[in-house]
Amino acid sequence: MSILIKNILLQQEITDIFIEGNSIREVGKSLACTAQKIIDGKGKAVIPGLINGHTHAAMTLARGYGDDIPLEQWLNERIWPYETNLTPEDVYWGTKLACLEMIKSGTTCFCDMYTYFDSTAKATEEMGLRAVLAATMFDYFDKKQAAAVKQQMLNCFGRKKKYGNRIIFALGPHAIYTVSTDSLRWCRNFAQENGLFIHLHLAETQSEYNNALQQLGLSPVRYLHKHGLLSPRLIIAHGVWVDEEEIRLLADYGVSVVHNPNSNLKIASGYQFKYEEMKAAGITVCLGTDGCASSNSLDMIETMKTAALMQKAWRFDATAMPAEEVLDCATVNGAKMLQLNIGKIAPNCLADLCLVDLNSPAFTPNFNFVSNLIYAANGSCIDTVICDGKVLMENKYVPGEEEIMQKAAAVAYDLMKKPTNVIAKNEANINENKDKRHNEQS
Ligand SMILES: [Zn+2]
Repeated sequence: MSILIKNILLQQEITDIFIEGNSIREVGKSLACTAQKIIDGKGKAVIPGLINGHTHAAMTLARGYGDDIPLEQWLNERIWPYETNLTPEDVYWGTKLACLEMIKSGTTCFCDMYTYFDSTAKATEEMGLRAVLAATMFDYFDKKQAAAVKQQMLNCFGRKKKYGNRIIFALGPHAIYTVSTDSLRWCRNFAQENGLFIHLHLAETQSEYNNALQQLGLSPVRYLHKHGLLSPRLIIAHGVWVDEEEIRLLADYGVSVVHNPNSNLKIASGYQFKYEEMKAAGITVCLGTDGCASSNSLDMIETMKTAALMQKAWRFDATAMPAEEVLDCATVNGAKMLQLNIGKIAPNCLADLCLVDLNSPAFTPNFNFVSNLIYAANGSCIDTVICDGKVLMENKYVPGEEEIMQKAAAVAYDLMKKPTNVIAKNEANINENKDKRHNEQS
């Protein structure tokens, strides 16, 4: 398949883009190529497909199910009971819905962490997006569960070949407070042997930081350093609670950090994300939405705006995180983190790109396109999405979108009707885990 996009705005200039197979072949004025499909770019601008560095795609099903309540209560009473009832079919439809939402708001690649790897992979592949899918691991410091979850990882790893090149398997140990040291070390070795990414939540909340100090005698980053987890293939979500020395450690080992501003703000986990310090240290900082249960939307344009505003607000500095830089975080930095040839509109890059509809108040006047994109628009400005050289959305329509919304809503309503008598069990687990963690360390 070849596509020629004519007369599109790219970095303040009108240009043409020629796509052949899954790559961008040429970018230039009035290209004299012929193509199987011609897209008229008049009145539109082109941006690289956005990269969502951290999400839990299928959590779209829990959107709006438990807002404005404290984090522990939210986990204990809403999220964990709900997740205990999840089936592979639910995760499949939840992921389809997430992919639909991502396409409609300009995301072409995402880094996910969730259960039922095959359901997520199948849905993502069908929707045409590119993704690093980290299969979640929890062992709650229980040896039996650790053995079972390691076997699960081996099985998923064995099945990853079933899926095409757009689907990349990764290990997803959930966090240091839900996964034992032994399992984390196992992840380190397995990832090293097989060239896999490890994606985990780290230094998200102050209580995680304080508990690590108390129970492990080390802060979260130092603990991972001690056990040899820090590497360029480690992707940490959050990294809000880190000090200067920890930033240095993350930089020295080439660890990437995904900032999730909407999630951090909404569940009140912290807002002083040290972007400037991380950038100065040379860390690759990317952006993510986190799952829809915590941040409610997968709109990366909204995420970019929040990230920029949050930096300016807590630093009392209007020059912090300018629009061009925040766009880089969601494109080139994401590509660097995932070690993929995406995030740019240039010859020989993979053809992951979005056309933005300029015919809206948000782009009028259009003195500065990037400024309008970040500060005035939102995901609904995306008109056309191409991923891996295939058109996934044209004129704001994704084929089959009605069925996806219908099915996903149906499984979500059914899920919430299922009995949630696991609340007490989960609470008991948490207390038991605290003891086990204590025993493991002592
Ligand atoms: Zn998360």
